Amino acid sequence: MPIAKINPVSCTHISSCELFPLLEKGGFLKVWQSRYCRGDFSRCARYQMSLRGERPPINLLPSGEYLSCLKRRDECQ
Ligand code: SF4
Repeated sequence: MPIAKINPVSCTHISSCELFPLLEKGGFLKVWQSRYCRGDFSRCARYQMSLRGERPPINLLPSGEYLSCLKRRDECQ
């Protein structure tokens, strides 16, 4: 049986990422955390956007898809 490869390094943007605390709450969002934040974070769309000096929208998921139900307070009217 092959041994699963585990990345011992977490994303370096955890403390500044606006989405990470929401992923911590669990539910269906938790899968993103194990797959990206504590896994292969270099593939995360938010991480890549931050590296380009851009602020990722709160509803941008690591996969590059957008959640329609999340907005920053300053984006709400
Ligand atoms: S969502 Fe992306 S940028 Fe945010 S902590 Fe997770 S891997 Fe890092």
